[in-house]
Amino acid sequence: MRIYLDNAATTPLDQEVFNAMTPYLLHHFGNPSSQHEQGREARQAIEACRATIAGLINALPEEIIFTSGGTEADNTAIMSAVHAHQVQHVITTRFEHHAVLHTLKSLESKGVITVKFISYNSQGELNLDHLESLLQQHRNSLVSVMHANNEIGNLNDIEYIGELCHKHGALFHTDTVQTIGHYQHDLQKLKIHFLAASAHKFHGPKGVGFLYCRKGTRLSQLIHGGGQEGSLRAGTENIHGIVGLTKALQLAYAHLDEHQQYIQELKYHLIDRLVDAIPDVKFNGNSAESVKSLYTVLNVSFPALYGVRGLLRCLDQEQVSVSGGSACSSGSVSHVLSALNADITRENIRFSFSKLNTKAEIDQVIDVLTHIYTLVAA
Ligand code: PLP
Repeated sequence: MRIYLDNAATTPLDQEVFNAMTPYLLHHFGNPSSQHEQGREARQAIEACRATIAGLINALPEEIIFTSGGTEADNTAIMSAVHAHQVQHVITTRFEHHAVLHTLKSLESKGVITVKFISYNSQGELNLDHLESLLQQHRNSLVSVMHANNEIGNLNDIEYIGELCHKHGALFHTDTVQTIGHYQHDLQKLKIHFLAASAHKFHGPKGVGFLYCRKGTRLSQLIHGGGQEGSLRAGTENIHGIVGLTKALQLAYAHLDEHQQYIQELKYHLIDRLVDAIPDVKFNGNSAESVKSLYTVLNVSFPALYGVRGLLRCLDQEQVSVSGGSACSSGSVSHVLSALNADITRENIRFSFSKLNTKAEIDQVIDVLTHIYTLVAA
């Protein structure tokens, strides 16, 4: 049986989520904008989902805008800051997902904004004093800092960053694609203007997510057309996706502590077994530090495998699915590992876990790795 340890790329759909979605594909197929009973029924379902999601993160229903996923939510947040708030400076990190970095690069190349990067140490920890000095130098800024990095798992202190932004009158966008459904977020407490989330990272369907936009913060439309989502996001709503997203988030929060503890134990088990089994194994960023990293991600730096076709491919041949970095940039050198100055002559592998993994699978992966490294040493 193949072992799937690439859950930061995507997670398998939960059966219960699938069950919740199917009636909206087969029976309740009405267009939410239609003025008849089937349309009204679809509209009610969407508004009920919006209220449920808002309740789960302590936000208001009108602060939730459904999108096609994390990428669209990130793009909308940044474009809104620039076009609806006339932000001229964006302060961000070298570790953001390309959904943020490429959007900023495109705006910078057109002369619309300047982009400043927060400095960091060799573990990838952000220097928040530097963030504060950038905020002092650049008025009318947007700060875009992810909650947790999808490759190395480093967690950023979005509570404190929100306080800094508030103190200096800056807008704050955070990409929580890797943490919504894995950590509790209280939007009444956090000083956040925009937040991006995506269903397929917590056992929901692909192609659906949401943008949280704090009441009073203006949005500009990214996709033009009909009047859906309060004229903020045109296009007939992905109703079965929205229902799946909501069900997946409800399930994630209903079992949060239990899953967190279970997955964290799997991660520690892998760390312990790797340290024992593979000489000279290292960990990238803060990924092996418990409270400083996402419990679902472990980024390992293995010794180089000279003359072999790469550890990722060896593992794939041995029925183990892992990743070299972000799934969106597979094949190229990871911008996150480059920013960290990680040794890319070594074999850098991201293991990412879900509630469906087991200790027996971790032990099997260790057997495979031990076999590969014994062959190389022979
Ligand atoms: N942001 C982060 C941190 C991610 O990990 C991802 C997906 O890998 C995205 C954004 C993009 O989300 P989506 O696949 O829903 O567009």
